[in-house]
Amino acid sequence: MSVLDPIVELVRGLFTSGKMIFEKPVTFQYPEEKRKVRPRFRGRHVLKRYDNGLEKCIGCSLCAAACPADAIFVEASENTDEKRFSPGERYASTYEINMLRCIYCGYCEDACPTEAIVLGDNYELSFYDRRSAIYTCLLLRKLSLMFSNVRCQR
Ligand code: SF4
Ligand code: SF4
Repeated sequence: MSVLDPIVELVRGLFTSGKMIFEKPVTFQYPEEKRKVRPRFRGRHVLKRYDNGLEKCIGCSLCAAACPADAIFVEASENTDEKRFSPGERYASTYEINMLRCIYCGYCEDACPTEAIVLGDNYELSFYDRRSAIYTCLLLRKLSLMFSNVRCQR
């Protein structure tokens, strides 16, 4: 090893750092500045509604059956003429996703026959306790910017 080798390596290192000065910065000033996600990104779930306000979810539990992490719990109830939440016979009276278990595989979305459950582009998923990690149907709708103007029925 020559005595010049450390100097050569130092210059190479400085050159590598120096050429980055002319590159566009990749850092985002989160949370003020949010990074745009890829089109196929799978983020926080959203429970969708039809334009008339009725829920798309019919409480069939196919999403729960398809979930490899056993993260979804669905309890169905019957719609009545007086109390109707979805167009079908049944609706999900309880819908919960345990976000601590979810691996964002998207199988629930694929299994849903009415396209009610969708993995959106929101990646802000922090919570302070385990209970807050269980997203209820109320929360899944409330947190959705797309449907924030629709009042949750229960
Ligand atoms: S994305 Fe995958 S792991 Fe998460 S709730 Fe859906 S099926 Fe389960
Ligand atoms: S989200 Fe879809 S698959 Fe899951 S219970 Fe509702 S309708 Fe069935």
